[in-house]
Amino acid sequence: SIKGQYGKYIAAYDDTLRNSMLKEQMITDSMESALAQNQFQIYLQPKYRIEDQKLVGAEALVRWIHPEWGFQSPAEFIPLFEKNGFITKMDQYVWDKTCAVIKEWEVEGLPPISVSVNVSRADIYNADLAEILMRTVKKYNLSPSHLHLEITESAYTENPTQIIDTVRQLRELGFIIEMDDFGSGYSSLNMLNEMPIDILKLDMKFIQSETAKPNSQGILQFIIALARWMHLSVVAEGVETKEQFNRLKEIGCDYVQGYYFAKPMPCAEFKELLGKQEHSDTEEFPAEMEYK
Ligand code: C2E
Ligand code: MG
Ligand code: MG
Ligand code: MG
Repeated sequence: SIKGQYGKYIAAYDDTLRNSMLKEQMITDSMESALAQNQFQIYLQPKYRIEDQKLVGAEALVRWIHPEWGFQSPAEFIPLFEKNGFITKMDQYVWDKTCAVIKEWEVEGLPPISVSVNVSRADIYNADLAEILMRTVKKYNLSPSHLHLEITESAYTENPTQIIDTVRQLRELGFIIEMDDFGSGYSSLNMLNEMPIDILKLDMKFIQSETAKPNSQGILQFIIALARWMHLSVVAEGVETKEQFNRLKEIGCDYVQGYYFAKPMPCAEFKELLGKQEHSDTEEFPAEMEYK
């Protein structure tokens, strides 16, 4: 039993700390076998271009379905994997599976799209990162531009010199670079000027707080104008309401992603969505938009 196996940790701590330590230990003990047993699954969240309302891509988000504990939140296990180094292996697994589904769609004649994968701050320090990513796309005979690499804004500020070198190299190889969680508060505008990136992905707290804070719309408008000037595209994530969507549309945001359109879904479901879009004559936003 869990208590028997981990009992030694229990005595000295209060419940909360004890439980979180237990949980961490259990996760650490199970991660390798979870990978071997395919407990990690790729979910895809659709991304839409606002201009023509087309499904243009997705973000790959890992899900851990444990046979006993059920769904584990990435917000919980990703930071732990970043601490203990396992993230490198898990991310490589995610990139590989993502390329496999992109190839599968291509072979079946579905419209070509790109998928964004998350690259952990820990992956940046792996000297073989570019080689691993190239090997992965080549394995499936895909071009690097099929993969968008999302790197969180705060990673850029941790070690600007190293990240600029690494990201520039990846970009030269043809990968599309997205700065994830932009606006969460770390990067100065001056730093943005130095960054070899293609796409700004606005932090969702930012989108979601816009109704509450009077200047948010102005800040959003400013970021989008700046992005235009710098020839960057802008993706808004965490779009949950029609009002948020309308405002983003008004100020010229390029792409949207969020529960208002669709939640992350299993690959098979996403493939259906992609197939439907291709075969429909009328181009309209997905049915989800109508009833929410
Ligand atoms: P992220 O990369 O910023 O991903 C966006 C998160 O927001 C996802 O949470 C997604 O499910 C959620 N989301 C999407 N639309 C909405 C919305 O409209 N409202 C709200 N409230 N949430 C929305 P998720 O899947 O739990 O992932 C959390 C974080 O874990 C990700 O943040 C990312 O930093 C990390 N992560 C997830 N998968 C991977 C992975 O394969 N590798 C790495 N390194 N990190 C990952
Ligand atoms: Mg992301
Ligand atoms: Mg992130
Ligand atoms: Mg994000």
